[in-house]
Amino acid sequence: MHYQTFFKDALDDLRDQGNYRVFADLERHRGSFPRATARDGTSGHDTADVTIWCSNDYLGMGQHPDVLNAMHDALDRCGAGAGGTRNISGTTHDHVLLEAELADLHAKEAALLFTSGYVSNWAALGTLAGRIPDCVVLSDALNHASMIEGIRHSRADRMIWKHNDLADLEAKLASLPIDRPKLIAFESVYSMDGDIAPIREICDLADKYNAMTYLDEVHAVGLYGPRGGGVAEQEGLMDRLTVIEGTLGKAFGVMGGYIAASAELCDFVRSFASGFIFTTAIPPAVAAGAAASIRHLKANNTERRTQQAKVAQVRADLDRIGIPHVDNPSHIIPVMVGDPVKCKFISDVLLKDYGVYIQPINYPTVPKGTERLRITPSPVHSDADIAHLIGALGGLWEQCQLARIPMAAQ
Ligand code: PMP
Repeated sequence: MHYQTFFKDALDDLRDQGNYRVFADLERHRGSFPRATARDGTSGHDTADVTIWCSNDYLGMGQHPDVLNAMHDALDRCGAGAGGTRNISGTTHDHVLLEAELADLHAKEAALLFTSGYVSNWAALGTLAGRIPDCVVLSDALNHASMIEGIRHSRADRMIWKHNDLADLEAKLASLPIDRPKLIAFESVYSMDGDIAPIREICDLADKYNAMTYLDEVHAVGLYGPRGGGVAEQEGLMDRLTVIEGTLGKAFGVMGGYIAASAELCDFVRSFASGFIFTTAIPPAVAAGAAASIRHLKANNTERRTQQAKVAQVRADLDRIGIPHVDNPSHIIPVMVGDPVKCKFISDVLLKDYGVYIQPINYPTVPKGTERLRITPSPVHSDADIAHLIGALGGLWEQCQLARIPMAAQ
């Protein structure tokens, strides 16, 4: 086989299908989020100042002074890297404190850190489903790739239930022997549609059919609940979930992932998960920054409230000019274009002519025909930013001859 030809052909296929990913090269500047400079690779040429409208740093905590100060302080105290896996010299006091902070956030006995949310899902689901004898995983059809990969890696039997469909979940649970171990894996806020799972009802089914529950709150931690504990905290359901999984890389603005659960379950995953055991721990400065972010969002509602107000404002403005977006109860606003070429075109022109950065979301991330612009307003987007975004979108909607929704239909 000619390896280079193989690589090139595979990439050409991706390009032909319109699925080749191109990254925007952004230079961020301390204190000026959501503004950044779009650069052109290593050429050294500035292209433009842009406003980021698609970041998962949902609350701008990646620039918060508490977080930056904690990171600077930890860097000065501890140096750069953790220096090892958690088992072999990589556990610093900052890791221990962060795990305690996370356990408290979710009112669980313990928490366990991983290098990312992806790794936490892959390692925790892989280990739980793989090691509990005869376990069946009941997985929501729209679960994130990291959960799917973890479940595959476990080699456990799995059943995929229709997205957020309680009747389908119940039918699948009822088809299994009551004493067979079961794990229901699902998310709270789904990232592409921004819809929210019926967590209470899923917990009720789990009780009825003797199943464990594994909830991914990656798009909810920091954002929902009086202390940022996620949708489960908001709904008073944290104690009903077996495992709550989250990220430190989105609303908390730093990096890393975790599970929060009983002390035994965390100890079990700590003891058996290769994705925990055999990899270098996150740097202490990252742990310290994440802990500062969590502490701030536990004690303050300002960022959450302001973000919710900005989300409501963008939705109302989109409605006013008839631009279709998914009506969901979360902070994620999917503006539906429904055509991959137009979606990419709008995103390109927004960046080039308006300094607005929104990555197009095309197949296979979302089903064909539902191509979209996923907008995530933050507390630091100004009224002028919103007016500029809406004006630009309105003009491009016209130019692309995309349908508008009449006011009466909204
Ligand atoms: N779960 C979900 C639902 C996600 O959307 C993502 C990332 N987009 C992850 C897990 C992985 O989290 P992280 O980015 O921290 O690896």
